Amino acid sequence: MSKSWAIVNKLLPFSCVDGPGNRFVIFLQGCNFRCLNCHNPYTISLCKDCGDCVDTCPHQALSLKNNKVIWRADVCQQCDTCINTCSYNSTPMTYHYSVDDILKTIRKYLPFLTGITISGGEATLQLPFIQNLFNTIKQSDDLKHLTCFIDSNGYLAATGWQKVANVMDGAMIDLKAWNNQIHINLTGRDNKRVKQTIEYLSKINKLYEVRFLLIPKQTDLQDNAKNIANFIKNLNPAIKIRINAFHNHGVHGIAKTWEPATKQQVDIFATQLRHYGLEHITVPTIYL
Ligand code: SF4
Ligand code: SF4
Repeated sequence: MSKSWAIVNKLLPFSCVDGPGNRFVIFLQGCNFRCLNCHNPYTISLCKDCGDCVDTCPHQALSLKNNKVIWRADVCQQCDTCINTCSYNSTPMTYHYSVDDILKTIRKYLPFLTGITISGGEATLQLPFIQNLFNTIKQSDDLKHLTCFIDSNGYLAATGWQKVANVMDGAMIDLKAWNNQIHINLTGRDNKRVKQTIEYLSKINKLYEVRFLLIPKQTDLQDNAKNIANFIKNLNPAIKIRINAFHNHGVHGIAKTWEPATKQQVDIFATQLRHYGLEHITVPTIYL
C-alpha cells in the first residue's frame, strides 16, 4: 500500500519555472544532499522536536506537547526566527498533507493548471507518496490531463525511478559538478547515481530537463563543457538544458562568501555547450 500523506514544506499554486506551462508545485521537506550552496537550508532535515526554537518565537506560534513541537499557522507571522534558531537545518513550519488534502487544493486552481511538480528538499525521499498522488491524478477523470513532474537531485536509483515511471510524465535533474570529487565537496554525495539517473530517464523518454548551476570557482562545469555536451549528446542532443546562475542570497556558511555568477559567465558556458552540439539551452533572464 502506497503512503497516502507527506511532510510538506510549502505549496505553490502557480509556477512557470518548474516544468512546462503553469504548474502547481509541492515542496517536500527533507533532503539527502548537503549542498553548501543550498538556498533553502531549512528544508534539508525533518524536525527533531528538540524544542530549541519554541521559546524564541516572538508570536507564541510554537509550543511543545507530548515532546512534539506544535506550530500554529494561524498566528505565525513568518518572521523566520525559528528557522534561524534551528541548528539542524530544519523548520517547525511543515504540514502533513494527505493525497486527498493535496487534490482538494489542486482542484481549487484546476482551470489555470497545466500540471503538478513535486520538488523539495528532495522529492524522491517521499516516493511512495508521489506514487500514490500521481496514480490518483492519472485515474481521476477531472485531473488526468495534468502532467506529473518531479524536480530531483537525481540520487534515486533506477529501481526507484521504475516505481513511478508509468505515472510520471517527466523529471528535471540537477547535475551540480562533472568531477566526482568536486560534486562530493559541494553536495556530500557522489555524482555517479546522478549521471545514471540522467541516462536512465533519457532512455525511457522521461527526462524533461538537465539543470546546471554555475558557481564561479566552485563548480567545474565550464572546464568540462565538452565532456558534459558529449555525455548529453550521446543520449539525445535534443535534451533541454537549463543553466542557473548562483547568487548568495539566502545561503549560509562558506557559500555566503562565494561570488555570484555573472551574465557573461553564463553566456560563455551556454556558447561552449552550443559549440559542442547541444541545441536547447535556457539561460536566466534575471541576475540577482
Ligand atoms: S516564523 Fe517561526 S518564529 Fe516566526 S512567528 Fe512563525 S513560528 Fe514563530
Ligand atoms: S525546528 Fe529545529 S530547533 Fe525547532 S524543534 Fe525542530 S529541530 Fe528543534
